[in-house]
Amino acid sequence: MIDYIIVGFGLAGLSFVEQLEDNNKSYLVFENNSQRSSRVAGGLYNPVILKRFTPAWSANEQLQKALPFYRRIETRLQESFVKDLSIVRRFNSIEEQNTWFEACDKPILDQFLLPELIENTNKALDVPYQFGRVKHTGKVDLKKMLSLYLNYIDQKKRLANESFNHDQLLVKPDFVEYKNVKAKHIIFAEGFGVKNNPFFNYLPLVGNKGEYIIIKSEALKLEEAVKSSVFIIPLGNDTYKVGATYNNQDKSPGTTEQAKKEIENKLDSFLKAKYEVIDQVAGIRPTVRDRRPLVGTHPEFINIHILNGLGSRGILIGPTVAQHLYNLIENKKPLNKEYNIKRFEKL
Ligand SMILES: Cc1cc2nc3c(=O)[nH]c(=O)nc-3n(C[C@H](O)[C@H](O)[C@H](O)COP(=O)(O)OP(=O)(O)OC[C@H]3O[C@@H](n4cnc5c(N)ncnc54)[C@H](O)[C@@H]3O)c2cc1C
Repeated sequence: MIDYIIVGFGLAGLSFVEQLEDNNKSYLVFENNSQRSSRVAGGLYNPVILKRFTPAWSANEQLQKALPFYRRIETRLQESFVKDLSIVRRFNSIEEQNTWFEACDKPILDQFLLPELIENTNKALDVPYQFGRVKHTGKVDLKKMLSLYLNYIDQKKRLANESFNHDQLLVKPDFVEYKNVKAKHIIFAEGFGVKNNPFFNYLPLVGNKGEYIIIKSEALKLEEAVKSSVFIIPLGNDTYKVGATYNNQDKSPGTTEQAKKEIENKLDSFLKAKYEVIDQVAGIRPTVRDRRPLVGTHPEFINIHILNGLGSRGILIGPTVAQHLYNLIENKKPLNKEYNIKRFEKL
């Protein structure tokens, strides 16, 4: 009998496994490469919503947990994948500058927004109304972290590189059993893949497809992330991730010409340098109708749990909610009602 089966190893699965590692619990992870959200994400952590200049939900608490959490993983895996990366917001008008100044005086935001305008010195960018800078931001190389962590658990013989088939799960009063593996608990962390999960597909996970183009531009020479109508995120070697799109309708996994055009049109409105599109990626964000995560225990089966709904900010939210789910299961600490799946029980 092991302690946990984990289905899915994106940011949610990784965040829960990290709790298990910290607490010396045994586990087996199933991962089938069907969802790409965590692997294609921009990797930015940023406590502010830059469209409206408002604080992201619980950003302060999450930021304080997330950074030490990723640093611990760096130590565990003896590799580095977290770095400080400044984010600047390009203003479109004097009105936007004024809204920024008002936001700088508000509680919570005053810690994150620099109350000075930043002059643009990059000739490749058209910036008529200057920038505002967000503090305490950075970037996690998620692809690298997830791939190294998967190797780590594979070496410990804790990885099953295969699809989990829900029909074969046997649920007993004190444990679950799947293909001869008995576990005290099972955690579903399948991202948008939860749509195929008969235990939790009643939950209102909507899904929002996001695409990036990857460009190469020798003239751009950008060392910070720029947020305008799209983000430009430096990747090194003159390459940049640009996007992302937000599409509620299309739930297909692949990249689209329409998203490429949309991103290029937006980019062309403020990038004056030449660039070449060298790649494009797509993934479906696990977004929820009420914009809060989906965390908790199945209404009928006490050994079946979910960690999902990390939306568009999984890097900050993941470590906090994973810890809360662990504390619910192991220490009977109640979950915050805001993201407990009990809020949808009547469905
Ligand atoms: C374009 C884009 C940009 C983004 N940018 C950012 C950003 O800059 N910062 C940020 O914080 N967040 C960002 N996000 C959001 C972030 O990526 C998500 O919040 C996060 O990835 C969700 O993680 P997850 O583990 O819940 O889902 P996923 O990453 O989708 O992981 C689910 C995993 O479960 C596996 N799986 C599913 N079903 C099964 C099954 N039956 N058997 C076995 N395995 C299964 C899948 O293969 C997958 O690996 C972005 C998302 C997108 C799409």
